[in-house]
Amino acid sequence: MEKSITKTCAGCKKEFLIIPQEKAFYEQKNLPFPSSCHECRKIRRQGLRNDRKLYQRNCDQCGISLETTYAKDSPYIIYCEKCYFDSVN
Ligand SMILES: [Zn+2]
Ligand SMILES: [Zn+2]
Repeated sequence: MEKSITKTCAGCKKEFLIIPQEKAFYEQKNLPFPSSCHECRKIRRQGLRNDRKLYQRNCDQCGISLETTYAKDSPYIIYCEKCYFDSVN
């Protein structure tokens, strides 16, 4: 059984845990582990998203659901990150 990782939040300096499921998620996506706790990340996310409305849409290429600033009725073709990179390479 894998253990959780204890990290110190870069924002509020409190300790937080990265549970094995989260750890696996970050490793799978090749992402660095977060440097701030859930609360700080939530606050930051809300701050960033405040002035931008996000819509739930599907990638026009592979159909995966994603969040975008383009509304459903906008004429733009929406690509997920993967299809976008596939299309430019
Ligand atoms: Zn924090
Ligand atoms: Zn896609």
